[in-house]
Amino acid sequence: MTVSTNLPLEQIKCDLCESDNYIIIYPACYEKQRYTDIEEKFRSSGDEILIDQVVRCTQCGLTYVNPRLNASLILEGYASGNDTTFVSQAKARERTFERCLNIVERFWKKSDKGKILDVGAAGGSFLYVAKKRGWDVVGCEPNRWLCEWGQKQYGIPIHAGEIQSLNCEDATFDIITLWDVLEHTPSPRKVLEECHRILRPGGLLIVNYPDVGSWISKFMGRKWVFLLSVHLYYFTKTSITNLLKHCGFKIVAFKPHFQTLEVEYIFRRMQAYFPKMGHLGKKLVQKLRLQSVQVPYWIGQTLVIAWKR
Ligand SMILES: [Zn+2]
Repeated sequence: MTVSTNLPLEQIKCDLCESDNYIIIYPACYEKQRYTDIEEKFRSSGDEILIDQVVRCTQCGLTYVNPRLNASLILEGYASGNDTTFVSQAKARERTFERCLNIVERFWKKSDKGKILDVGAAGGSFLYVAKKRGWDVVGCEPNRWLCEWGQKQYGIPIHAGEIQSLNCEDATFDIITLWDVLEHTPSPRKVLEECHRILRPGGLLIVNYPDVGSWISKFMGRKWVFLLSVHLYYFTKTSITNLLKHCGFKIVAFKPHFQTLEVEYIFRRMQAYFPKMGHLGKKLVQKLRLQSVQVPYWIGQTLVIAWKR
């Protein structure tokens, strides 16, 4: 399906306070559009630079893409297509998630391990790590190819669809995680409200997101590598706090979130904003045969841990 910049775009209201008053933070630059196919554009490893207009709500400060593609088209883009680029990093992701689970377990005060739901589970790497440590795990993921990959690779139950399509009873889960997910969703508020409903009282919510208020984001400006076409929202500590409070959560902690990827993959992703540096780095690690070396990196990713009140 072809995405034309003058066809399916729609104006949206602020997801948090429903105001339609905003100031423009970044003007659109549709001439830089790289993908005209929604399957190419919206996938977990989507690396098209931000071409849309980004605005900030003058009432509550939430920063988001507006106008944007219709939500059902975005979800259709995520649901179809395969993502071999994304699963090529499964081993490195498992390493990231070992560290993440250590943090989650530090905040989990009960002796029994409970039931975890991973929203936007992709190939299921986090759930695989959690299952090995004795957690009861379930995932949901809109991309059908990734669901099947995870089920085959890890033997993890991953429901194909959004969180709302799980149709869970109230208070089903002890922990809900959203790794690199919330900023991709057409309505983070609706996702968090559903998380709140199906989480047990006192249950933990774990969210990571690229923090547009971080010093590194401010330093890099328009070249911050998380300014991507797939990111529909750009949270700061303040805006995510407001959103979580609004949805009935109490924040326990913020932490910098380090991710691990293979060094060649990092340079490849860097090429979107820094073509020369990314290309040279990629060539260098290939020459030194260091492509598969796994390195932790931080460019403003933030982890927030919250309780259901
Ligand atoms: Zn607002």
